[in-house]
Amino acid sequence: MPRLLSTRAELRDALAEARRPLGLVPTMGWLHEGHRALMRRARTDNATSVVTIFVNPRQFTEAADYTRYPRDEERDLGICAEEGVDLVFAPPVEEVYPVGFDTKIAVGSVAGPLEGAARPGHFEGVATVVAILFNLVGAERAYFGQKDAQQVLVIRRMAVDLAIATEVIACPTVREPDGLALSSRNVHLTPEQRAAAPVLHRALTAARDRWRAGERSAEALRATMRQLLATEPLAGVEYVSVADAATLAELEQVNGPALLSLAVRFGSTRLIDNEPLGDPGGGGPSQPA
Ligand code: AMP
Repeated sequence: MPRLLSTRAELRDALAEARRPLGLVPTMGWLHEGHRALMRRARTDNATSVVTIFVNPRQFTEAADYTRYPRDEERDLGICAEEGVDLVFAPPVEEVYPVGFDTKIAVGSVAGPLEGAARPGHFEGVATVVAILFNLVGAERAYFGQKDAQQVLVIRRMAVDLAIATEVIACPTVREPDGLALSSRNVHLTPEQRAAAPVLHRALTAARDRWRAGERSAEALRATMRQLLATEPLAGVEYVSVADAATLAELEQVNGPALLSLAVRFGSTRLIDNEPLGDPGGGGPSQPA
């Protein structure tokens, strides 16, 4: 079993004895195959693997989404054990944000569009908690999912700008056999919504295929995604984007690495997905190794 730590002091003591290098996988729990892939990569690359499980209240923009976010620490620990994780840090809220906590990290332009526009304050919450975790763990490497592509760019920017030495590594999105990206929120889908949800991936792959066939008009690629999504009556489209892979600025022409992305609601459950065009690692500032 991994060692379970719930306070900063316990974490510090455990890390003092840990073999280096250290690989960190920050999560909000309700672990699935996507998280497992990050854990495996952290184990393969590093002598010690650390998983954090913390449902971060500051990154939720809807109170109901935070309250109903699925939680099951015992099940999560079992998964960490199966994956051979060494340390699990699962702190209570006051251990991450002690009384008097009054700081926010706001990343600039790359946090502005897409998820940043749809969920104001979300990335401030993400950047703040990740900075705390990076400082508490001091890992050589941290692993994030390409599923949350904008999050990777925001965190990489933050780590570079704040001179945090942890290298930010993006790992490919893990999907169900029908193409739906794994997400802890999928558990909220009704059977009908679950059956409809693979339309996100179908829309992305249709646009990617048009790009592969030579289409370079971003509006044509957006239209392809919108047309596919429109075939599914349960899908409430929030945004469809074809953006520069490094800046996330919307494009007119796709002449370099780009990111197709979308956000779609099924009832009260909001799903996001994306597909990189060109450069699989996405763009963003490079970090020293
Ligand atoms: P979460 O617990 O949803 O905050 O996710 C924790 C980490 O797992 C983040 O870096 C996510 O991007 C990543 N992740 C979530 N879903 C997937 C997936 N389907 N494939 C790969 N990584 C994922």
